[in-house]
Amino acid sequence: MDQPVVVITGASSGIGEATARLLADRGTRVVLGARRAERLDAVAAATGAVARVTDVRRREDVAALVDLAVETHGRLDVIVNNAGVAHVEPLDSLDVDHWDEMIDVNLRGVLHGVAAALPVFRRQGAGHVVNVVSTSGLRIVPGQAVYAATKNAVRTLSEALRQEAGPGLRVTAVSPGMTVTELVAASGADPETVAQGQTRMDEIGIPAEAIARAIAFAIGEPAAVDVGEIVVRPTAQG
Ligand code: NDP
Repeated sequence: MDQPVVVITGASSGIGEATARLLADRGTRVVLGARRAERLDAVAAATGAVARVTDVRRREDVAALVDLAVETHGRLDVIVNNAGVAHVEPLDSLDVDHWDEMIDVNLRGVLHGVAAALPVFRRQGAGHVVNVVSTSGLRIVPGQAVYAATKNAVRTLSEALRQEAGPGLRVTAVSPGMTVTELVAASGADPETVAQGQTRMDEIGIPAEAIARAIAFAIGEPAAVDVGEIVVRPTAQG
């Protein structure tokens, strides 16, 4: 594929930012979305990308991001549904607002990406959906019930989409393990919980570039090669 056009959600930090930088270095035209305008603009400036402030919880925002890609570059080859939030807490916390947020961003946000990109892919006869899920959905541990549930919901819909897709559409689910990003800090948890999570992340976490390389691998394969699932975790992760 000559210079594919790739939309990335959650591109203002972490895995999304690393993916934007890696793909741009390889000549890919990236179109970036996230909520923090300043951070997003900085990544866009560094990568020569176009960007739009996007809250994936809002269907119209994600549709506008995809429109921006098509208006700017005339097509869309890949959408990387990467935006996500994680609240690690037992179900006994009954923090329904946090549950709602994870459902809205991690699941509904991905559905909004599919709803925006699928008609474009169908029109073109080709396209690629890359969903960033998590090893949290592979090894379920206490405290991650809702987070893992949202990620496994996306794993499920990725497989269903793959089966419905037909020959022109590729679907990839990428499962990162512990990766050094702002995910823990962004959770807004109490300082002690953030410090604990951050310590673990700093001890064993792998760089976001490792996940970016996995995403770039899936995208870079020939159109007839559909990379379904990739799991990338620290060697030290149990
Ligand atoms: P970061 O917190 O660094 O990045 C998350 C990104 O998502 C940010 O760019 C943030 O931007 C964006 N985001 C959050 N909420 C919204 C929203 N409502 N609308 C649009 N963008 C949003 O963490 P990661 O890079 O780690 O997270 C990326 C993905 O990787 C997530 O889906 C996460 O669940 C997954 N993951 C991460 C792991 C890890 O160990 N780090 C492990 C497994 C999976 P902004 O705040 O500007 O909107």
